[in-house]
Amino acid sequence: MKCFSIPILGVPYKFKIGNLYELNIDESLQGTCDTYLKEINIRDDNEIPNLLKEVVIHEITHALLYEGGLITDANEEKIPEFMSVMFPRIFSVLEEFDKSIKEC
Ligand SMILES: [Zn+2]
Repeated sequence: MKCFSIPILGVPYKFKIGNLYELNIDESLQGTCDTYLKEINIRDDNEIPNLLKEVVIHEITHALLYEGGLITDANEEKIPEFMSVMFPRIFSVLEEFDKSIKEC
């Protein structure tokens, strides 16, 4: 299992990356974000392409919404679900934007 800490809006969050048994989380979940303990768990035992990255974005979005004071309900799933799918697309649009603006 890998463990490290990353500040999210200035608040250190402990990340634990591992399999279902190492993380001891519900098997129906791919990750968790505990805004009280400041801890994010991410499963790395699935074979679905890009799922790990989507789960990371999903759980980080929970922490951002909480630490940013926007949404304190940890069960709010719509925005994290949206961001986990859309963020990579937003990022690729930004890359195209950067490339295009340099060519002008
Ligand atoms: Zn969630």
